[in-house]
Amino acid sequence: MDIDYSPEDLAFKQELKDWFEANLTPDLKAAAESGADLGGAVSIDQMVTWAKKLSGKGWLAPSWPKKYGGPGWNTTQLYIFNEVRAEVGAPMPFSMGVAMLGPALMKFGTPEQKEKYLPKILSFEDWWCQGYSEPGAGSDLASLKLSAVPDGDDYVLNGSKIWTTYAHYANRMFCLVRTNAEGKKQEGISFILLDMDTPGLDIRPIISIDGAHHLNQVFFDNVRVPKRNLVGEEGQGWTVAKFLLTHERSSISGVAESTANIKRIRRIAGEHGYDDDLQMQLKIASSDLDLMALRYTEFRMLSGLESGQVPGAESSMLKIKGTELQQAISELRVDMAGHYAYPWHADTAVGPEDFRYATQVYNFGRASTIYGGSSEVQYGVLAKMVLGL
Ligand SMILES: Cc1cc2nc3c(=O)[nH]c(=O)nc-3n(C[C@H](O)[C@H](O)[C@H](O)COP(=O)(O)OP(=O)(O)OC[C@H]3O[C@@H](n4cnc5c(N)ncnc54)[C@H](O)[C@@H]3O)c2cc1C
Repeated sequence: MDIDYSPEDLAFKQELKDWFEANLTPDLKAAAESGADLGGAVSIDQMVTWAKKLSGKGWLAPSWPKKYGGPGWNTTQLYIFNEVRAEVGAPMPFSMGVAMLGPALMKFGTPEQKEKYLPKILSFEDWWCQGYSEPGAGSDLASLKLSAVPDGDDYVLNGSKIWTTYAHYANRMFCLVRTNAEGKKQEGISFILLDMDTPGLDIRPIISIDGAHHLNQVFFDNVRVPKRNLVGEEGQGWTVAKFLLTHERSSISGVAESTANIKRIRRIAGEHGYDDDLQMQLKIASSDLDLMALRYTEFRMLSGLESGQVPGAESSMLKIKGTELQQAISELRVDMAGHYAYPWHADTAVGPEDFRYATQVYNFGRASTIYGGSSEVQYGVLAKMVLGL
């Protein structure tokens, strides 16, 4: 991968900047400066409006190939898009459809499933949530128990899913179910798509440490789902699930966002009297160095993708180091906020606007080393894949 931009790349960068400049609203820009996202400084209405705007421009699913309605950008263009987007403060709308289900359907879906679901992910008409984890199955996902029993043309689902992000906004769920309780755990798992308004589904909120409603537990009481909604064959869900997880992990690392956030931290340090604070400057420099290392790991992964490889161990490395860096950056803002960081929630915040969401973002950020597979589990993956242990 050539990491110098060509004149065409630079022209592309300018085109992106111009569009964002003309279309990004001041409230979203301000939200980015605050370091907070959906559930914090960005409301659901703001996010949906922004997602539809990006969709109208054809940029909601930047990594999708042209064949499926994406812009068909190469890896350099994709990198530039994320770099510019984060730099100007444009959020990437939260979409598990774009980042996770879409690529899985492209690989494993039937022609009918692709035709039915992919366009509605692109237009943001469908909001997908991920039904993987259960009360007794997180890291050890293959132990999941939500049962799907065949009955005529349907499966009948019973059990529950937990930590289901934005299930209360979603109209559809991609879900792992147990279709066989005998034999090897992984072989009895199937991957199925369902509508959130199906009778028998009950969504109950879980309020997280930042005081916001991102998470839910979803209960299934005799929920009927047509057999044609299976992705892949019955019993092959584990293969689809693993493919999807590597996409999830790579997208969590947030290199572009961290680059923009370190810039913001430097601005805040300057404006709030930390320019001569050696300790603070050392901490910022240390995060900056970690970011540089992360960026080159991301380059390696992108270069591999360009030559047709699928993300492997790199996605675990990016997940571990990317989320640790996000946490370190949120800690820097809390450090600089000092006593202004005491209020737990933005609603009761006092002091400069730069610190309004510092504690909320810091607190919710603790989850980033858990979701998408905890850091400990990623270290286990690396021990196996890279060290052969
Ligand atoms: C904010 C948030 C959003 C989420 N969103 C979703 C979602 O939308 N959909 C969904 O399906 N799930 C979601 N999850 C669930 C997430 O994937 C799980 O929390 C995660 O996989 C860990 O599982 P667990 O919580 O059951 O913890 P456990 O698996 O019980 O782990 C407990 C502790 O043990 C450690 N541990 C476990 N196994 C090992 C091992 N083999 N080696 C070393 N250490 C180990 C873990 O690292 C952890 O510290 C979300 C979680 C959070 C926090």
